Amino acid sequence: RIIAATPASANEEAIERALRPKQLDEYVGQEKVRSQLEIFIAAARGRNEALDHTLLFGPPGLGKTTMAHIIAREMGVNLRQTSGPVLERAGDLAALLTNLEANDVLFIDEIHRLSPVVEEILYPALEDYQIDIMIGEGPAARSVRLDLQPFTLVGATTRAGMLTNPLRDRFGIVARLEFYTPPELARIVTRSAGLLNAPIVEEGALEIAKRSRGTPRIANRLLRRVRDYAEVKGRGEITREMADAALVMLDVDPVGFDLMDRKLLEAVLFKFSGGPVGLDNLAAAIGEERDTIEDVLEPYLIQQGYLQRTPRGRIATPAAYQHFGVTAPRTSPN
Ligand code: ADP
Repeated sequence: RIIAATPASANEEAIERALRPKQLDEYVGQEKVRSQLEIFIAAARGRNEALDHTLLFGPPGLGKTTMAHIIAREMGVNLRQTSGPVLERAGDLAALLTNLEANDVLFIDEIHRLSPVVEEILYPALEDYQIDIMIGEGPAARSVRLDLQPFTLVGATTRAGMLTNPLRDRFGIVARLEFYTPPELARIVTRSAGLLNAPIVEEGALEIAKRSRGTPRIANRLLRRVRDYAEVKGRGEITREMADAALVMLDVDPVGFDLMDRKLLEAVLFKFSGGPVGLDNLAAAIGEERDTIEDVLEPYLIQQGYLQRTPRGRIATPAAYQHFGVTAPRTSPN
């Protein structure tokens, strides 16, 4: 898959870090989340307290990690970063927690994938800044309570519904990140092009923006591919025509769907007669993981009105038929 929404390599991550905005006022879009956090951060700073625990949720590549870093920076504290699957044992989390300084940010990506034993440790840490750890083994083992510095947990997840209730209840701030509009993505593309020293015109940035699935990570990735194309096939300037030609070459269609999007929609339309089709059948038909379909592919197709999730399964909308140039069957009202 060429244009996946998750970072593909270490090199990719390094580039992402370089393009990441560092302050709240450089963070494009997400007005509601931004203005709320601005107030909560100013208030916490004013009282010299840790910011409330914050849950950021939304599809990959929308700026959750970026926001976590910005929160730490705006609070003037350190950020420690880990992820749910990496924290295997209770001791891994205890080690991180006991090393935090006052008001630090602990960022846990993919927080819905914490193991139950690790989550157990987290509850008292979040509520009372205390942890209970076991020392020793067998009959001599005993539990010791340790005090922690006040800290802020920033958790990121693709779907808030995947968190256990007790964990979700412990977040004082819950922010949902939305897909970005083409003008917002064009601002991100223009800013990134500046950082990469790539000459770009407004229409070029907008063309990339329109075809980036509402996702900054994809916009930045397409920008780099279009830049390559413009350097080799043209004189380097990213015009609308250059962007279009490069994106056609990359199999990104005019509305921004890539191969996987089209494969999914085509399966619903043609293999399952427009649906409804259950997630498992769909996953088998296109050879993708259920989670990838739910977290990465579907949210954008649903938001754009090509796909609907119903209790009986996924169905294609008239827009999907139109996109593939076929007429929708007449449906009986249901
Ligand atoms: P997530 O953690 O949600 O998967 P990231 O925070 O890693 O996403 O963002 C992916 C890339 O997109 C980063 O390199 C960052 O530069 C860019 N990005 C994300 N959100 C914004 C934004 N609001 N403004 C500018 N760039 C952004």
